[in-house]
Amino acid sequence: MTTTTRSAPHDLLSALGAREDLSRGFGKASTSLPGAIPLLGGAPSADLLPLAEIRDAAADLTADTEALVGALQYSLPRGISGLRRWIAEREGVDPERVLITNGAFHGLSLLFDALLEQGDEVAVEDPTYPLIFRSLQHKQPRLLPLPLDAEGIDAGALEAQLNAGARPKLLYTVPDFHNPTGLVTSAWRREQLVGIAERHGLVIVSDNAYAGLGFPGTQEVADYPLDSDLVVHVRTFSKVLGPGLRLGWLVLPPWLVGPVTRLRANQDQHSSVPIQAIVERIVGAGEHSPRGGGFDAIAQRSATAYAERFDLVHGILEEGLPDGIEVTHRTGGIFLWARLRDAGIDLRAAQELARTRYGTDAVLGRFFHLGDPTDDRGSLRLGISHLPPEQLRRGAERLLEALTSPEAR
Ligand code: PMP
Repeated sequence: MTTTTRSAPHDLLSALGAREDLSRGFGKASTSLPGAIPLLGGAPSADLLPLAEIRDAAADLTADTEALVGALQYSLPRGISGLRRWIAEREGVDPERVLITNGAFHGLSLLFDALLEQGDEVAVEDPTYPLIFRSLQHKQPRLLPLPLDAEGIDAGALEAQLNAGARPKLLYTVPDFHNPTGLVTSAWRREQLVGIAERHGLVIVSDNAYAGLGFPGTQEVADYPLDSDLVVHVRTFSKVLGPGLRLGWLVLPPWLVGPVTRLRANQDQHSSVPIQAIVERIVGAGEHSPRGGGFDAIAQRSATAYAERFDLVHGILEEGLPDGIEVTHRTGGIFLWARLRDAGIDLRAAQELARTRYGTDAVLGRFFHLGDPTDDRGSLRLGISHLPPEQLRRGAERLLEALTSPEAR
């Protein structure tokens, strides 16, 4: 991964332009061949959704008339108290600092709206989760891309930019099982970045959407410390319980609770109470006992399956490509980020073949980078969570055929 620092923040619209193809890359219609198996997904496969737990929790709620009537009434902007207390306990904060959102993306939008003025600077990892640019777009921010090294954001590069006059209001980071690379930011690097944030008054927005999905054996690193007034945690139930629930949370520093809560109340009042009540029962919040072992047990079940799927896809590409692939981070989460060792493969041509002839797809690494969109950097991001193993195997074999085709040279 590059460690060079770029001298100027990048213009958001050109960054978005470079990503025009990305929504197509994520969409179901990237390849229209019948029986297509695209390796794009960012959601749990049907066999890993906690169906029994959801059914059980929903039945429990609907059987309890008083609870159901309560769930069908208006509620508080920050969310229902039992679930907020469960979150607060896990996060080690006062429940007053917890705000339940309609998922991580919603939490990020609220933060961007609360923290940013038009044209402000925003520091982001390079590569990063590019859909945040959509929720940032209306603020027309200037982007400060920060290279990653083996431990996370290059803290020296950030400090150098700040000393040279850059004034980002916030730093957006995915510290665990990073999308797209899988990188886990080291504890020491987190400490350094908090130090920099405190010295320069910049808010760290820690989007930990994949928390809890560490592969068996992966050492957990504590999230950015909430005793700092400049740290926000963004979390979601999407990746463990299902993205259709649209439920997540923010942990805010006390000074941000009022502004973000008001913003939220003025937008949509609060998250769906029946959904909060179902999730409350699954995780075992309030007076409820957890279903299926609760959130951590469900997450571990998925993470174990994802580790196997990761290894399956890795093995197929490693063995099938004459020079193999370089996988830097096998840590957790739902993506495999691979760099092809054979620089002679034309990735764009291979992707086109994958889509039009072999009925599969993958996202090219360049879509996650803020630099030159014509530089494909030889990497690919493969989604490994959304298909059961047999289908995933077939998808990876099809991709291998596209990558090894003479037409991709
Ligand atoms: N942050 C990151 C890093 C993600 O990868 C995703 C989902 N792809 C989200 C946020 C969005 O999560 P949610 O479904 O909770 O809005």
